[in-house]
Amino acid sequence: MAPRPRTTPRPSRNREGRGALVLRAHHLLCALGFRGLGYSPEFVANMTRVVRALRRRPGRMVRLVDTPDAICRACPNLRGGRCRPAAGGRSRVPTRDRKVLRRLGLKPGASLTARAAYALIRARITPEDLGREFCAGCRWVALGYCEEGLAVLRAGASMSASRRRPA
Ligand code: SF4
Repeated sequence: MAPRPRTTPRPSRNREGRGALVLRAHHLLCALGFRGLGYSPEFVANMTRVVRALRRRPGRMVRLVDTPDAICRACPNLRGGRCRPAAGGRSRVPTRDRKVLRRLGLKPGASLTARAAYALIRARITPEDLGREFCAGCRWVALGYCEEGLAVLRAGASMSASRRRPA
């Protein structure tokens, strides 16, 4: 039987021997606002695991990309290896990722610790930037959770405190 095509990235190895977590750059922002909502039960369970890993292990390496990642792999919108929302139309997601990467001064594929990534976000992105620039058109941004999470981060809390209740 022919091998099935792989549509989601495998973790790459870093010097510590643990796999880097592959993340779309804009998902760093989504993780700040995550409160257990999502596209399906499988999506929520997987995103809960990813967000917990970011919160509990800030020293973990992340590789920031503009392609499907560890969160997308359980998303019903991932079709044929691309983000294709059910409503149709062109996904703005890769553009969103590239905008975040540019603001952070990084290129697609950049590897750094989760702590370093959130230090850059804290310094370079404001809560107001989300609705007007990075997350325009996102169905979740109107809830205000992501802005709140970023405000808490910028107020000096670690990423692990940037939520009101456990995911
Ligand atoms: S909506 Fe698109 S970018 Fe977001 S998790 Fe699903 S596949 Fe990934």
